[in-house]
Amino acid sequence: MRRSLISLLLAVTIVAAVCSVAARRWRRRRLRRAAATRAGSSPEQAITIRSFAEMDAHLARRWCACGGYLERSGEGTRERDGRRFRVARLSCQECEAVDEVFFDTTEVLH
Ligand SMILES: [Zn+2]
Repeated sequence: MRRSLISLLLAVTIVAAVCSVAARRWRRRRLRRAAATRAGSSPEQAITIRSFAEMDAHLARRWCACGGYLERSGEGTRERDGRRFRVARLSCQECEAVDEVFFDTTEVLH
């Protein structure tokens, strides 16, 4: 009786551990997929802004695929097909991944 209770507890513990690993993996995969297709991840998906304040507001809400905090590490300008882009470079404080966010600044008034 006692032995079967212990093996039951052991089984429950193992199942719980497997579930939590699977859940974490699933969450990470979902975040990574969302990161690849979200706005600003490429010039084609650039976020159109009319002022640089919009860019700051957007970057403040952005997160890493791992869920970590992204810190701005640099900025650059790119031109492509007659459109002007501002590219913000971000680095994650948790996993050190580097993320680039494209903003279409063609309509920003200078
Ligand atoms: Zn990260």
